[in-house]
Amino acid sequence: MRFSKEIQDSPTLKLGEVARKRQQEGKPVISLALGEPDFKTPKYILDATSKALYDGLTTYSTPQGILPLRQYIAKDYNNTYGSNYGASEVIIMPGAKAAIFASLASLLDVNDEVIILSPFYVSYPPMIKLAETTAKIIDIPLNSDFSLPIDKIKASITKNTKVLILNYPNNPTGKLLTTNEIEAVLEIIKENNIYLLSDEIYEKQVFGNNPFVSFSSFNEIKDKTLIINGYSKTFAMTGFRIGFILGSKELIKKINLLNQNINTNTNTFVQYGCLSIYENNNTHLETYNKELLERSTYLYNELSKTMYFKPIKPESTFYMFVDITNTKLDSTTLSNMLIEQYGLVVTPGIAFGKNFDNYIRLSFATAKDNLIKAVEIFKAIKL
Ligand code: PMP
Repeated sequence: MRFSKEIQDSPTLKLGEVARKRQQEGKPVISLALGEPDFKTPKYILDATSKALYDGLTTYSTPQGILPLRQYIAKDYNNTYGSNYGASEVIIMPGAKAAIFASLASLLDVNDEVIILSPFYVSYPPMIKLAETTAKIIDIPLNSDFSLPIDKIKASITKNTKVLILNYPNNPTGKLLTTNEIEAVLEIIKENNIYLLSDEIYEKQVFGNNPFVSFSSFNEIKDKTLIINGYSKTFAMTGFRIGFILGSKELIKKINLLNQNINTNTNTFVQYGCLSIYENNNTHLETYNKELLERSTYLYNELSKTMYFKPIKPESTFYMFVDITNTKLDSTTLSNMLIEQYGLVVTPGIAFGKNFDNYIRLSFATAKDNLIKAVEIFKAIKL
C-alpha cells in the first residue's frame, strides 16, 4: 500500500494553513513557519514569463526541458563549481520537490536502504516511501554540534544501501559542510558505490563567512551524484513550480522516462521565463543576503538573552533551529501554545525527526518588524 500511515500532510504546509485561517478570521498572526522568501519575484522574470505566455509558448515542450535553459543551467554550474555538465545531463522538473521524488523513484529498488540525516527536510521520509514502499529509511541524527556523524554513516552502510541524501545549505539548521566533512562524504560515496542525492536548493542563501561547495565540483563522483536545485528560494518563485536535476546522462535519461509519463514537461512559458535569470544581473541576491545576515544576527542575539530559547547560529538558508529544552515542553505543545496564546506560528522540531522534539524552527524570511514582535513574545513567555 503506497499510502501507508507514514504518508501524512506536510507539517510545514499544515502550519501555513493554520496561519492563513487565523488571518482570515481577523486574528493577529506572525508566521515564522514557512520556507518562502519575502521579496517579490524580480521584474525581469515576470516580464520574460508573460512575454513567453503572450508569444504563444503555451504548448508542450520537450519533456527534458527546453534546450537553452538546460544549456544555461549546465554552464552556470560549470562556471561556478568547475563541473563538466552538458545540456543532456540536465532535466527541468516542476519544482525541486518533484525533482527529488523522481530521482528517488528512478534510483530505488525493492528493499533498498536510504540514509537521511536528521534533522531532515520534512518531505524526505514520505517521498522515499512513495517512491518505493519497501525502501528502508535509515535516519541518522547529526552530532550534537550539528556536524556530520561520519562514523555512524559508515557503520550504517549495508549491501542494501542505495542512496545518501544530503541537504546543504541545510534546512533546518542553516549549517554548511566543512572541507573535512565534504572529503569524508566523497570517500563514503566512492568506497561504497552508493548514490549521493545532494539537495542544493538553498545554494544562494549563504550569508556567513564560509563559502558553499557544491557536490557537482567533484567529477570523480559525477556518475553517482544527482544535484537538485531550483528557483523557488533564490528568485522567490515558489508558486511557479520549477526546479532541475543535474546528473550523468544515464541517470537523467531514467528520470526523464518517469517525467515524460507523469508530467510530460514543466510549464513551457515558465521555462522560457527562466532564461531571463541567466540574461540579467541577479542584483537582488546581494541585498537579500545582507538582509538575511542582519535578521539572523538580530534574532540570534536576542534569543540568546532569553531563558528558554537557545538558538543555533545559521550561516545559510533563512532558518534558525532553536533549542527549547529549558521550556520543559515538547515541540508540539509549545508550538500550539504559541499559536493559540500569541498568534505566533513556528515549526515544531518533531517534524524534522524524532530526536528533535526539543527544538523549534523559525523562518526569518519575514520582515524585521515581525521578528521584533516575535522576539517580544519569546521574551515575555512565562512558563
Ligand atoms: N528541498 C528543501 C530542503 C526545501 O526546503 C524545499 C522547500 N521548502 C524544497 C526542496 C522544495 O522546493 P520547491 O519549491 O522547488 O519544490
